[in-house]
Amino acid sequence: MADYDLIIIGSGPAGMTASIYAARANLSVLMLDKLAPGGQIINTNEIQNYTGMGTINGAELAIQMFQHTQELQVAFDYKTVREVKVEDGLKTVFCEEDDAVYTAYAVILCTGTRPRMLGVENEKQYAGNGISWCAICDGAACRGKDVVVVGGGNSAVEESIYLAEIVKSLTIVTMFDLTADPMACDKLRGMENVKIYPYQDVLDFYGEKKLGGIHFKSTETGEEKRVACDQVFEYIGLTPTTECFKDLGILNEMGYVKVDAQMATEIPGIFGAGDCVTKNLRQVITACADGAIAAQSAARYVQGMK
Ligand SMILES: Cc1cc2nc3c(=O)[nH]c(=O)nc-3n(C[C@H](O)[C@H](O)[C@H](O)COP(=O)(O)OP(=O)(O)OC[C@H]3O[C@@H](n4cnc5c(N)ncnc54)[C@H](O)[C@@H]3O)c2cc1C
Repeated sequence: MADYDLIIIGSGPAGMTASIYAARANLSVLMLDKLAPGGQIINTNEIQNYTGMGTINGAELAIQMFQHTQELQVAFDYKTVREVKVEDGLKTVFCEEDDAVYTAYAVILCTGTRPRMLGVENEKQYAGNGISWCAICDGAACRGKDVVVVGGGNSAVEESIYLAEIVKSLTIVTMFDLTADPMACDKLRGMENVKIYPYQDVLDFYGEKKLGGIHFKSTETGEEKRVACDQVFEYIGLTPTTECFKDLGILNEMGYVKVDAQMATEIPGIFGAGDCVTKNLRQVITACADGAIAAQSAARYVQGMK
């Protein structure tokens, strides 16, 4: 006999949506997260592409999603999952805190992604002390300062628009041209204090004790440039947070959880949803859609097991 019908690992948009669908399918559900419920949207200023919401602050959307799970009495606990094992169809989830162990018939993996680092010289030295991966967390301290954003995709452009309204100058250094949503790119290009350097390779960072600036090189002309700044924000892509599932043998070469159209992995009763699975578009709306499908698949599996 398992402790729960279903354990959901991760309480971002994917995990919370999965928990709503699973609870409404009458499954007993435990949702685990090492941090506060909400996932990456907690640190997102404005979400403008979630159907029906117009523009909504990420933390506000996270609170509304969590309240919805609590209206359905979904059990939630702060735990960092370290491993998942399968024996005779029963799934055992091992956590770091208090060596807690839970069992379930089915598990949905919703652990999302984390920001990728450039891997250049001095980056680690200034991490958290001049280099940040979260404009919402550290942007307010940059009022009136010179700031650089590295990256040109959706996250980089959205967060640059937010930062440009606070800071004195915003310089964007990106490997290609801006590749984000054209409307957002146009808005950013039209902001007076923004300068964009496309087709650049970041070489390193410099400064005495404190970050002094960034050094980069044109991939077209080879010209090197140094831009002095107080703070750098990096938005250059994501790495899946799936290390704790590596022994299950269900990850692809990049570390993403391999799933089919029903969000099922190759292991019966283990499903994946959201940013941590193999897919093309990593957004709130697709994470929620995955979570709904994974929960329906898990409900069918649990009924079969019982
Ligand atoms: C800066 C930025 C701006 C964005 N802007 C937008 C936007 O405007 N519109 C949009 O649609 N999308 C946006 N996104 C993308 C969106 O945030 C993600 O697609 C979405 O959050 C994915 O949801 P998820 O539930 O799959 O994963 P996540 O939100 O990453 O949640 C994963 C959860 O799993 C937990 N977790 C991880 N490992 C463990 C473990 N071992 N044990 C327990 N818990 C664990 C984490 O703590 C986290 O809470 C943005 C992302 C960023 C970074």
